[in-house]
Amino acid sequence: MLYKRSSELFAEAEKVIPGGVNSPVRAFKSVGGTPIFVEKAKGAYLFDADGNKLIDYINSWGPMILGHAYQPVVDAIIEKAKLGTSFGMPTELETEIAKLAISMVPNIDKIRFVSSGTEACMSAIRLARGFTKKEKIIKFAGCYHGHSDSFLIQAGSGAITFGSPNSPGVTAGTAKDTLLANYNNLDNVKSVIEANKNEIAAIIIEPVAGNMGCILPQKGFLKGLRSLCDEHQILLIFDEVMTGFRLAKGGVQELYNVNADIVCFGKVIGGGLPVGAFAAREEIMNYLAPLGPVYQAGTLSGNPLAMVAGLTMLKALNDDADIFKRLNEKTTYLANGIGRVLKNNKIDFTINQVGSMISVHFDANPVIDFETAKKGDNETFKKFFHGLLKEGIYIAPSAYESWFITDALTYDDLDFTIAAVDKVSRDF
Ligand SMILES: *Cc1c(COP(=O)(O)O)cnc(C)c1O
Repeated sequence: MLYKRSSELFAEAEKVIPGGVNSPVRAFKSVGGTPIFVEKAKGAYLFDADGNKLIDYINSWGPMILGHAYQPVVDAIIEKAKLGTSFGMPTELETEIAKLAISMVPNIDKIRFVSSGTEACMSAIRLARGFTKKEKIIKFAGCYHGHSDSFLIQAGSGAITFGSPNSPGVTAGTAKDTLLANYNNLDNVKSVIEANKNEIAAIIIEPVAGNMGCILPQKGFLKGLRSLCDEHQILLIFDEVMTGFRLAKGGVQELYNVNADIVCFGKVIGGGLPVGAFAAREEIMNYLAPLGPVYQAGTLSGNPLAMVAGLTMLKALNDDADIFKRLNEKTTYLANGIGRVLKNNKIDFTINQVGSMISVHFDANPVIDFETAKKGDNETFKKFFHGLLKEGIYIAPSAYESWFITDALTYDDLDFTIAAVDKVSRDF
């Protein structure tokens, strides 16, 4: 496939946008080459500036769970736009999506909408600190919670890809309030809590991690965190920006039957428009301005186009009794198929999968935390990425990202992908 036009567009973009992109992982730095410029997308496919058609396994990093340009969402946005695109005043639509989200997710009474996952997580910890009157937070190495200062401490996603876990510009004062623990290691969490008695406001976690590849919480880990939080009056924050409305209607709280105190959303909840949200029981949410003392605001929060896209998406997911089962079956089929051909071709690998999230690690050992995720062979990953791209398959341009399976994928697409993995991995 040719990427001539994409390369030209990238060269132009580099002149006026740092690195040519508006979010670093798009830049192909860890796999080499230049990014592909998209012209349009429909269903499971991307169409790029050179006229290539690619099967998309990223789906805008998660939101397009029902495929690109999903007709009901597109129609809803068009109709809404005719009525005005932003008011900075309340609309009935906001109450409607709030009610639907609250009905789908366990254990939340109120929800506030923002414009990104970053904002949701940033606001959630401010709320937790205000509510508990404590300052420190615990996060897990390799988990990504957006790019606000407190979280750029051994963060996953682009922050690992670029090997700069602690970004310059984050002050020492901010960094000292973020304590690090290791994923799937309760003893480690306990010792961090013991060393900071009565100082920890919240533990924030991706309850299924997706930003160091896909990593499953081991049996008892999330329940153990719940108990530790109860014992020490710490709020448990589930960052479900990736997993919310993807792994189950009620996200990981429902999937593994563990309750969080605050839940963060993004990605799917916006149906492809910029939406984030955070939610909790009433007592906590009433701490937010204008009811309570914790300030949080946004000019475009609850934007009508974003809300109608999100509402239409959530309705579609809520009304389809089989959607999460179907996604899980497709992803399991893909995981088994890829596993079979890699094994035949004698490649060392581990595939992690939960529902419609999956990642392929080029290392034979179990991948359960940031340390084990880092052991994957990046040279093999590069060959894998570029090999698949040649076959017309687009996966995340980094070994530290999960793939996001969309319901628009057919079994023919999956078979085509498995055959391509077979072909590509023969040359590793
Ligand atoms: C994507 C992501 C974020 C950040 O969301 P943005 O909308 O990119 O700001 C936060 N947490 C998790 C788990 C994510 O996957």
